[in-house]
Amino acid sequence: MKVVKHLKPSDVYMGRLEYGQDIIDSLENFCAENEVKIAWVQMIGALRKATISYYDQEKHCYFNKKLEGEYEIVSCSGNISVKENAPMAHLHIVLSDTEYNCIAGHLMPGSTEIFACEFVLHRFEGEEALVRGQDDQTGLSLWLY
Ligand code: ZN
Repeated sequence: MKVVKHLKPSDVYMGRLEYGQDIIDSLENFCAENEVKIAWVQMIGALRKATISYYDQEKHCYFNKKLEGEYEIVSCSGNISVKENAPMAHLHIVLSDTEYNCIAGHLMPGSTEIFACEFVLHRFEGEEALVRGQDDQTGLSLWLY
């Protein structure tokens, strides 16, 4: 384990996403407008559409699953860092369906249609961004040391 940054908590924002909005687009826009470069995010709510995925560790690519219907957002959490000079939200989500079954995965950008959603965004102190870059071993865009 290696520490990438040692940070102190700063502002906490609480709010909600509007009906029909996309989770990642909304978060990234909020962070760009408020110059949030490092944060932790938690959400609960409900949505009507989402694409979740898992990363194939051999093939180094994402496999997607599109969901449509009524889902509770049991938990959606992740972080904000910077990729190619713009805020990037990396989120994982657990959804429950009308039979109370859960499905979970990496949340894909531009894929959700919110019904209602409450968020808490914990910002950290510091002007210096937490930056992502290509990691050859995993094929992922990871935090750089
Ligand atoms: Zn992920």
